[in-house]
Order: sequence, then structure tokens, then C-alpha cells
Amino acid sequence: MSYRHVLFAADFSDEALKVGARAKAIADCCGARLSAIHVVEDMTISLGGGYELLPVLPELPDETLLSESRMALGNLAERLNIGAAELWVVNAPSTKEGIFGAVEDHEVDLIVVGSHGRHGLSLLLGSTANAVLHGAPCDVLAVRL
Ligand code: AMP
Repeated sequence: MSYRHVLFAADFSDEALKVGARAKAIADCCGARLSAIHVVEDMTISLGGGYELLPVLPELPDETLLSESRMALGNLAERLNIGAAELWVVNAPSTKEGIFGAVEDHEVDLIVVGSHGRHGLSLLLGSTANAVLHGAPCDVLAVRL
């Protein structure tokens, strides 16, 4: 089985280097294109001040957060020596949706995530890895952390 386009899901945790290195090794091995993505999730603000039935509005992250994320992803790519990779910072309602959107738009055939990052340290799979594995339109590699 050979992959054509590998997508590294980067969360900027300490383990991101290990996950990115694995994505790079697989891409090198297959002669595949390598891209890296970081998703900035929409923040949700409640206008209700404690009242349950009042509306909840999505708030777009400000440009500062997005540009800091672009810089962090660029630094990570440099440390991994994947300068030639395409780097994407996207805004989406959830990390899973941001990743799946990129998969569809760019014909990704392998997503590489960490088994857990900042969420679910005590679990076999963290929440993002679990969400991505359920419903991914392509193969998913969960790098054991
Ligand atoms: P977690 O859900 O925190 O346990 O994260 C598991 C893995 O999901 C991480 O190792 C990353 O590969 C990926 N991941 C988590 N958050 C993001 C994010 N905001 N953008 C891209 N990938 C992420």
C-alpha cells in the first residue's frame, strides 16, 4: 500500500515532534506529498449568563490567534525539517471537521495523529484521535504516545 498525500495533524504539544516525524518518515518512504494542519476551533460564547435556554453564538477566533498558529506551525515544520511541506492553519467548528475538510479539498489519503495530546492522557485514544478515527474518509495512523 502506497500513500500519495499524507496529512500531519499538529497540536503544538511536546509530542507533536514525534507525530510529525512519523508522518515525514511515511511520506518519504512512499514518495508522497506531505502537508501539516493545525485547526483553530471556533470559540463558543454564551450570552445567557447562566440561563439555559438563551442562544449560544459561535465567535470566530481573532486574526492574532490565527497568525500565532501559522508561526507556530512554521516553527514546528522547521524543527521537523519539512519546510517543503504545505502548512495549513484552518478555522473550523471542531478539529475533526477542519481535518476532514482539508482531506476532501486536497485528496489526502492518510491522516497522522497522536494517540492522545492534551486531552485524554489516561485513555488509549484522546478525544481528537477518537473523533478522527470515527468517520475519516481515508486511512488514519494514530502514533502511540
Ligand atoms: P488530543 O485530542 O488532544 O488527545 O489530540 C490527539 C492528536 O490529535 C494530537 O496528537 C494531534 O495529532 C491531533 N490534534 C489535536 N488537536 C489538534 C488541532 N487543534 N489541530 C490539529 N491536530 C490536532
